[in-house]
Amino acid sequence: MTSTEKDRQYLWHPYTQHKTAQPPITIIRGEGAMLWDENNKPYIDAIASWWVNPFGHSNRFIADAIYKQLTTLEHVLFGGFTHEPAIEVAEKLIEILPNNQQKIFFSDNGSTAVEVAIKVALQYFFNKGEKRTTIIAFEDAFHGDTFAAMAASGISFYTQAFQGMFIDVVRIPVPIKGKELESFNALKNVIENNICAGFIFEPLVQGAAGMVMYAPDALSTLIEICHKNGVLTIADEVMTGFGKTGKNFAMDYVKAQPDMMCLSKALTGGTIPMAITTFTQTLFDAFYSDDINKALFHGHTFTANPTGCAAALASIELLQKPEMQANIERVNQMHLQFQQKVKQHPKVKTTRVLGVIFALEIQSNSAESYYGSMRTKLYDFFIEKGVILRPVGNIVYILPPYIITNEQLQEVYTIIEEAIEMV
Ligand SMILES: *Cc1c(COP(=O)(O)O)cnc(C)c1O
Repeated sequence: MTSTEKDRQYLWHPYTQHKTAQPPITIIRGEGAMLWDENNKPYIDAIASWWVNPFGHSNRFIADAIYKQLTTLEHVLFGGFTHEPAIEVAEKLIEILPNNQQKIFFSDNGSTAVEVAIKVALQYFFNKGEKRTTIIAFEDAFHGDTFAAMAASGISFYTQAFQGMFIDVVRIPVPIKGKELESFNALKNVIENNICAGFIFEPLVQGAAGMVMYAPDALSTLIEICHKNGVLTIADEVMTGFGKTGKNFAMDYVKAQPDMMCLSKALTGGTIPMAITTFTQTLFDAFYSDDINKALFHGHTFTANPTGCAAALASIELLQKPEMQANIERVNQMHLQFQQKVKQHPKVKTTRVLGVIFALEIQSNSAESYYGSMRTKLYDFFIEKGVILRPVGNIVYILPPYIITNEQLQEVYTIIEEAIEMV
């Protein structure tokens, strides 16, 4: 059997309707921003493989750090034991995170990072003897596919089969330009009419919704409203973290500070699944007690896996190198130039840029659904041309590895321009 036939025989892929989907492409090799399939056809990975890979595929620096750790201490349980790699990741992150973030909790993926944050928000009030159970989230939010994360997510595509089985979540509109007051008032209203524990949000950019962007000042106001009312705030930086927005974290643009942050995706440079939830000292203190019932009874077998920690340390080191920061700036400048070029095009409805993120909305007469016909046409066109882009409905976005070359990025732009003409 070919690998395609074997895949069909044995595998079940994420977000895939196997009856109608094209067979998956078998990738055999990656280097820098490029991937190659089994026929040696090259692809530019213009979305950094679901936003995890900023420093390039098969990165030697991270690989060497992983190998060294694998042959020293590959894993040890984190209950009752600790190790240098975990301590170093924590120390390093606390140095670069917003300065109120003081405690680091490890898990395995973005969804579990969110799951932990929501559980801590709920148990924080439980520990204080206060009953607060409602979580506030944005419309069209995406926070992951485990149950609490899914409850907080507002994209019905992912959640409709499970309606009625969720924790209480109330939604407010995103404060996009012109809708700020509506969003502020909705938040005040929700807080007044519910007993709210926390507000979870994707800071500045809603990734899965199609790179929907809003301003730092608006987010600051929302956080302040929460803090005035004793509602905990959770910045889900699983997508935006580690340089995507042009700064280490999207929250670096925002004056008000969150109570918790969720990190994953680029944390290990796309090598080993790992996630982190970070907390203020105040939150930690609410669990610190002679009463064992007040402890956080949450953990995963692979929590703080030393090999993952070594990958995270190497990734953070790469991120902080001046050459990498220059790459982020270079990609941003190229995006801004491309934006100037395409924004007047009659078929382009809107464009937006933040850091290495570029998004463009194509004019469309019908309401485009998430996995609708325009999306399929665009996706297939890009793949045929050797560029990996996953449009969301009629929104095409680029989120490349920071080390993508100017020539590769130019090719992505050219093919997007061709796609606009084609649809
Ligand atoms: C991808 C994502 C998640 C979920 O992460 P997984 O690792 O896929 O579980 C959560 N929040 C945001 C903002 C994300 O982009």
